[in-house]
Amino acid sequence: MKAALKRRSIALVLALVVPAFASTVQAWGDIGHRIVAELAWRQLDPAAKAEVTRLLRVDGSDSLPDIASWPDHLRDMPEKAALGKATGPLHYVNFRDDRCRYVPPRDCADGRCVIGGLEKYVAVLRDRHASDADRADALKFVVHFVGDVHQPLHAGNRDDKGGNEYQVQFDGKGTNLHRVWDSQMLYTRDLKWQAYADRLAAEGKVKLPRPIAPLDNPYAQWAEESCKIVAGRGFYPDGHRIDDAYVAKNLPVAETRLREAGKRLADLLNKTLD
Ligand SMILES: [Zn+2]
Repeated sequence: MKAALKRRSIALVLALVVPAFASTVQAWGDIGHRIVAELAWRQLDPAAKAEVTRLLRVDGSDSLPDIASWPDHLRDMPEKAALGKATGPLHYVNFRDDRCRYVPPRDCADGRCVIGGLEKYVAVLRDRHASDADRADALKFVVHFVGDVHQPLHAGNRDDKGGNEYQVQFDGKGTNLHRVWDSQMLYTRDLKWQAYADRLAAEGKVKLPRPIAPLDNPYAQWAEESCKIVAGRGFYPDGHRIDDAYVAKNLPVAETRLREAGKRLADLLNKTLD
């Protein structure tokens, strides 16, 4: 009796843990998304803050960081699994080569990429005739996708599922390059997300890259920046090994992307919710 119960509880734990684990390979880990949301929250103007707070309450939440990873967990919620499947391709965009030039019909057919996802959900968030429930969902997607598009491997140019299929050795263990960039490099600071956000905020205002003329789509620019980082020399580590030198060089890059994402998300929400 006892053994059977134990077996059942192990099965239950596995059922809970395995999908959560599977979903962590889709995005900045939870820590990265929380940091982006927290940095944005601190830079919202009072009107945007009030509207974000109101929409979060519709959703039974009171914290922007708490909802930032929601789109990664939809597939684990039976009633949201279809939405999770439909929005799966909206977490990333694939570029074709090192030039990282975004060509919408080719790279984002039917709006099914992170750039299309941002266009779609920013429009819903802006629409005061849309229901509060739809706008609350749109807010959660926008917060999440601004984070994703700044994770370099969500807009890479290789045929390896954003580095998920590129195995590396890190700290004596096997992993893949996507997970290293999602969270494992960030963990080397040994900070909880609040303290990490404090640390990044203490660096002061982030200097955003200039808008590229004539590109009038900011989301495409953010994706192209990510692609350029992936296409840079040494991004794919020699010998599939992440050593201290790799972290020393690339962790600041990841942190700059988090700061840029936070600032841009704040600017976007300030503009959209005015
Ligand atoms: Zn994602």
